Amino acid sequence: MHGLLVIDVQNDFCPNGALAVADGDAIVAGINAAMPRFDAVILTQDWHPAGHSSFASSHDAAPMSVTEMPYGPQVLWPDHCIQGSEGAAFHPELNATCANMIVRKGYNPAIDSYSAFFENDHKIANRIARLSANPWDHAVDACGTGHRFLRALFCR
Ligand SMILES: [Zn+2]
Repeated sequence: MHGLLVIDVQNDFCPNGALAVADGDAIVAGINAAMPRFDAVILTQDWHPAGHSSFASSHDAAPMSVTEMPYGPQVLWPDHCIQGSEGAAFHPELNATCANMIVRKGYNPAIDSYSAFFENDHKIANRIARLSANPWDHAVDACGTGHRFLRALFCR
């Protein structure tokens, strides 16, 4: 079993998005081309409720400043990837229809989540980890918009 984990290829992380990454969308065609070579394709989707605790607007703080959370330091982001918004949608050219699974993360209002496997407190297992007793038994390649905001978890 060899899976492809596609991380957060969403409008808000692409040019003109709320947390835009230069050329964040340049990888989309390559991801689409690679998908058929894998046994399973899993997409992650950053999926925050409005007023999420990782948003600077929730703390009256400047975007990109850092605050201390119960689980450690937290960078405060501009509002992004709000559930159901256009910014939270996958990039329109991403072939999301062939995905076997979509894992949403960041939906816990109190904890940010950069990983498809764990919340940022490193304790609460996210959905992929819950679905498989040991996800590391499987080979997984990871790809995404490839930016500094993103914590891709590579495991082989
Ligand atoms: Zn986020």
